[in-house]
Amino acid sequence: MRTTAIFLTLLTSLVLFSGASWAAKAEIPRLTLADMEETYSLKGSWQFLPGDDFSWAVAAYDDSGWQEKRIPQRWARGGYPEYGQLAWYRLTLRFDPSQREELSHLGVRMGKVLNAYQLYAGGELIGEVGKMPPLSEVNYDRKRVFAIPPSAIAVDGTLVLALRVWGGSDLALSKWGGGPHEGEFRIGNYAKLLQASFLSEIPGLMACVLFLGFGCYHIYLYRRNPQLQTYLWYGLMALDIGIYSLMSNQWRYRLDWSFITYEKIEFGAIYLFPALVIQMMWSLLDLPIGRLLRVYQFSFIVIAVVIVLVPGIDIHYHTLRPWQLSTLGLLLLIPWIIVREARAGNVEARTALIGVLVFLAACTNDLMIDLAGWQAIRLVPLGFVAIMLSMAISLANRFTTVLNDLEGQVAQRTTDLMLVNRQLAEIARRDPLTGLLNRRGFSDEAESEIQRFIRNGKEPSFVLADLDKFKEFNDKYGHACGDYVLRQVAHLLSERVRNMDEIGRWGGEEFMLMLPETSSEGATQVAEKLRTIVESQRFEYNNKQLAVTMTFGVATFRKGEALERCIARADTALYEGKEQGRNRVAVSASPGLSLIG
Ligand code: GH3
Ligand code: MG
Ligand code: MG
Repeated sequence: MRTTAIFLTLLTSLVLFSGASWAAKAEIPRLTLADMEETYSLKGSWQFLPGDDFSWAVAAYDDSGWQEKRIPQRWARGGYPEYGQLAWYRLTLRFDPSQREELSHLGVRMGKVLNAYQLYAGGELIGEVGKMPPLSEVNYDRKRVFAIPPSAIAVDGTLVLALRVWGGSDLALSKWGGGPHEGEFRIGNYAKLLQASFLSEIPGLMACVLFLGFGCYHIYLYRRNPQLQTYLWYGLMALDIGIYSLMSNQWRYRLDWSFITYEKIEFGAIYLFPALVIQMMWSLLDLPIGRLLRVYQFSFIVIAVVIVLVPGIDIHYHTLRPWQLSTLGLLLLIPWIIVREARAGNVEARTALIGVLVFLAACTNDLMIDLAGWQAIRLVPLGFVAIMLSMAISLANRFTTVLNDLEGQVAQRTTDLMLVNRQLAEIARRDPLTGLLNRRGFSDEAESEIQRFIRNGKEPSFVLADLDKFKEFNDKYGHACGDYVLRQVAHLLSERVRNMDEIGRWGGEEFMLMLPETSSEGATQVAEKLRTIVESQRFEYNNKQLAVTMTFGVATFRKGEALERCIARADTALYEGKEQGRNRVAVSASPGLSLIG
């Protein structure tokens, strides 16, 4: 199984990649920080003491008896309830005293701290996030850069950083732990730290803009063609990720909303995500959503609504873990369904597989951070990019396939239509009773023959043949018998003319013959021959031997004459023939009219 191998490789590399951050336990340089043009990591062991005493901010305070604790690392579950979840971190840095004057532009870049903190440098408060008890205002995802005033560095070059942390409520500590836990903790040139902090948020912002743009665009496509339902789900999913990405990015603070508003939106988006994934995935794979799956999907919508509507932050502490556990079902269901569909030959499933596997690896990684306490980089944002890209490719593939199918269908239908059109045109030219050309079909053929005559100068002749006293015949033997005889006569005539001659049914019991390159004499001979054949023919109907005769009018086409005119002459000749007693051939010839028979 190649896909399984790819998945395992991706998973291992992701875990190894993310694990690299906790393999490196660099110690903080405690000696001279000679050149602050570079920035230095403050990650590593700090002096740590649970409790709260403002004298601990003072540089001169002796913290040698304190325990050591790493930054960033979450406090153990439960935290320090006996100290009101308050604790201090201290770090002493020593600079070259001679360079003290040049160290005037220093700053500290702070990563994420649960749930509020104050930062002191040389005993002075230089920044805070959230509000410490008794105000106790949670604000845990904020990364900040604080300037260190030159006065904070002692004459002997010592700089003491003291971090006063409120871990949060006992409930928060029991679920999430507390303390500095993620991101950069660095000291150095203030402007450089600001710049680095700014730059580090750019990729996230770009991804967010991309997701939001993609989302809106796909919803727009759906609005243009509501048949493209998958586009709607894809659009909503992209929007959801876009909103989540924005709320996970430091740029969100530009909106100047309250922390709780950001969190409500962020959680609402992430809690809703599985419901959208189900909708999108099943739509993409063209599978129906069963009742059980609907209930499962609906539970995500309900929890998202509850999270947003219930005031305060405590609700998240209660719901996050159960929600994470409930997504495990989806983490198993989606690969299963996708592999099943891919094996069944669903092309969309194959394309989506890679993205979904990367996404799942990222989810597994992040779930392990939360559920098993892994110290690793969160990879879900990367997973989002992978899943959105693979699904975009899937969608594009699907659209292309649909388009190709449509084009194929259109081509097939055009061919069918052309065939039917040709058949219809042929039917329109034919007389249904005898199968001969009808008047319209015959006229078309005659027109082309006349064009040929104009080119080669060899005139055609027309012969109009009419059954004699056929009304009486019908009256005597019945209409069905008349029809039968008409068919037989048609057959007889068409058999006895040359291949190049045309014959058509001109009217009820009238036939028209066109004899190309035939003179008046030639045509008269043909007509005479046919007259004799019809006269001598016996038609057997209901054990009766029946006979009919025909009168023929011959007209030879004259240069410059209209076809109708020539036919009118044949008709006149025929009329004359009837007048003369029927069963004969009459010729329209200039000058005058001659009769034979
Ligand atoms: P005439 O010798 O002067 O041509 O006499 P006629 O009776 O043949 O001529 P008339 O024009 O008076 O009548 C034509 C008859 O042809 C009338 C109709 O009964 C018959 N007829 C025309 N079309 C059909 C047809 O499709 N089937 C049948 N059975 N009879 C037809
Ligand atoms: Mg007749
Ligand atoms: Mg007639």
